[in-house]
Amino acid sequence: NEYPTHDPGWVQEMHANHYLQSWSKQGRKPPVITGAEGSWFWDSTGKRYLDFQSQLVNANLGHQHPKIVQAIKDQADKLCYIGPAMGSDVRSELAALMTEITPEPITSTFFTTGGSAANELAIRLARHYTGRSKIIARYRSYHGATGGTLSLTGDPRRHLTRGDMPGVVRMLDPYCYRCPMGHTDSANCPVSQGGPHLEELLMYENPQTVAAVILEPIVGTNGILVPPDGYLQSIRETCDRHGILLIFDEVMAGFGRTGKWFACDHWDVAPDILSSAKGINSGYVPLGTMSVSKTLADWLKDYPLPGGLTYAGHPLACASGVAAIRAMQEEGTLAKATASGEYLRSELAKLADKHPCIGDIRGKGMFNAIELVKNRDTREMLVPFAAKEDAAAPMSEMMKFAMNEGLYLSFFSNCIRLTPPLNISREDLDLGLEILDRTLEIADEHYQL
Ligand code: PLP
Repeated sequence: NEYPTHDPGWVQEMHANHYLQSWSKQGRKPPVITGAEGSWFWDSTGKRYLDFQSQLVNANLGHQHPKIVQAIKDQADKLCYIGPAMGSDVRSELAALMTEITPEPITSTFFTTGGSAANELAIRLARHYTGRSKIIARYRSYHGATGGTLSLTGDPRRHLTRGDMPGVVRMLDPYCYRCPMGHTDSANCPVSQGGPHLEELLMYENPQTVAAVILEPIVGTNGILVPPDGYLQSIRETCDRHGILLIFDEVMAGFGRTGKWFACDHWDVAPDILSSAKGINSGYVPLGTMSVSKTLADWLKDYPLPGGLTYAGHPLACASGVAAIRAMQEEGTLAKATASGEYLRSELAKLADKHPCIGDIRGKGMFNAIELVKNRDTREMLVPFAAKEDAAAPMSEMMKFAMNEGLYLSFFSNCIRLTPPLNISREDLDLGLEILDRTLEIADEHYQL
């Protein structure tokens, strides 16, 4: 392989000293990745890694999918860039495709460079449209790294904002394995039902001050939380009663990740605004979307869109998005994700018979997590929430072990997320599960009877 042309030691040196890496202390010297294909990537030493994360849960069609790569090359030959106000065939085609695959009331899309920018505009639009300022968001959430979206984010990274955006009201999560209200039966829990908890917050907040509720229909980064049936419907009805917009952040869960185009399709509940990114083009070129209902789209014919970007509707990004969506349609990717997900969870259930550290298995399609515990009866977490450094062992030990064995896994607190490419082969899935099996022995050692 010809890439990179630099000596790997030099690449690491520059990475450690001159490149700033997301969310991290600097100075690391990571493996230098020289190529990737399908569910695999490899480094300059020739070591191969099975990508059980799909990178940042975006390589939904795996690495270097030939149809997406070709579309980018063809578009680069034709027209690399044209400003957002001009007509462009790939831009219009992607807008039309988005209308086709999003839930019915959604008709129109603004293209961004990623999920943060999509959510940022979603909340600004909700505020302009309603004339209200508050946004309700949940604790177990990640909505982006910009000022507004990191303020919406519930996970500990939000503390880095030092209060960037006022007006965020926090709602509890339908996290039934660890119900925040202590219930064992979601049918009796106001939080897991959705609407009753939201109504109570609104009573205190004054619904006339709330522009929108934003949530991930299936929570991603914060532990793959699948809401009980009826939850989204109940939130939708509560929002409607008070003229509050509902924003679904489908940045991680969208584009087949859960076996449907969008996670909300599992319950046939549609938002007023849907944001997406990542899997739209498997991450090959930066791209995100903010799509709105017909009502909002009509309103935007009279009032200007309150935002814009130099790279809105970038032709290379749009061409890759069109190619990725078409490839998913041609290759039956949603059905594959559903079938592989069912298989994966049934194999995880077998691992749970062997590994007492597995407290919970949850997910839909290829959007899955296992939650690790010190004891199944007490459900004590294997490591505390948001633990770091020494306190995060044995999770960090497992991460190192898996990586050494050639399995790229993703970890959050006491959860391991399992989000391989949607088109991963059965053979690779089995190989990953076999390495996971050995990795979990580390957690079992910390089990307390
Ligand atoms: N929303 C969700 C649910 C995400 O998972 C992410 C990224 O992980 C974002 C928003 C932010 O997207 P981006 O990193 O493309 O700005």
